[in-house]
Amino acid sequence: MSADAGPTDDGSPAGSDAAPTVELRDVTFAYADRPVVEDVSLVVESGAFLGLIGPNGSGKTTLLELMIGLRRPDRGSVSVFGEPAHRLDGGRRVGYVPQDVGEASDEMPVTVREVVRMGRYPGRLFHRFDDDDRRAVEAALDRVGIADLADRRVGRLSGGQRQRAFIARALASEADLLALDEPTVGVDAESREAFYDLLGDLNDEGMTVVLIEHDVGVVTERATEIACLNRELFFHGDPEAFAETDALADAYGSAQRVLTHDHS
Ligand code: ADP
Repeated sequence: MSADAGPTDDGSPAGSDAAPTVELRDVTFAYADRPVVEDVSLVVESGAFLGLIGPNGSGKTTLLELMIGLRRPDRGSVSVFGEPAHRLDGGRRVGYVPQDVGEASDEMPVTVREVVRMGRYPGRLFHRFDDDDRRAVEAALDRVGIADLADRRVGRLSGGQRQRAFIARALASEADLLALDEPTVGVDAESREAFYDLLGDLNDEGMTVVLIEHDVGVVTERATEIACLNRELFFHGDPEAFAETDALADAYGSAQRVLTHDHS
């Protein structure tokens, strides 16, 4: 990984002529009149493991939502698998683990297996569940190591187990892209390591991963490329190149300046 032009797709199952998994061009987005993402251009190639970092409130969640078509940019364009992001077909090719999955699922009176089954029919209300579906669900539960918890209610799981359930749902839907928003908040250190091992293994097997993570150390260790954001993109490239730039100080430093400014 010495190239400074970002990722390569060596060894990736997708051919070199395949469309990038995600492509943002000059993307700008504001809540009301408050810009939170400005002029961001970014390509995520198939097979990448992108760590998205930046200070609190720097627009990471918003950017991730833009990347998978949950929000539409005010200016610029976003494509996923070569198609406009907002036309994603019910989300089957994208597995999204939002930040508040823990809180939301506390209230859900459903079992782990039922959550994973949802991956087989997003947006299809009257789907007949067949043997292929059943096999895919069991394989996904097994793959993330929670087959023994299949009949437990999701609200009864620990944080780490719950995140695995949502990853299993993505695997069951045969997603090619996994988008995770700070998945290990509130998860103990050991489970967190194991969780990132799993993400690394899935990535080695060809899954493209975009991960928001506040721990810069984790990201530089685990991701194959880094995007450092604070409204604008300060850096995108591999972790080695990132370590040699001032991007981190620039992105986090300007947040401090903004904060000081706001309070003065
Ligand atoms: P991060 O994930 O880096 O913490 P976010 O994308 O969540 O950043 O938020 C960027 C900025 O936009 C923050 O200042 C946040 O308060 C604001 N924001 C986020 N979501 C909304 C929303 N739905 N409406 C208005 N402002 C929002």
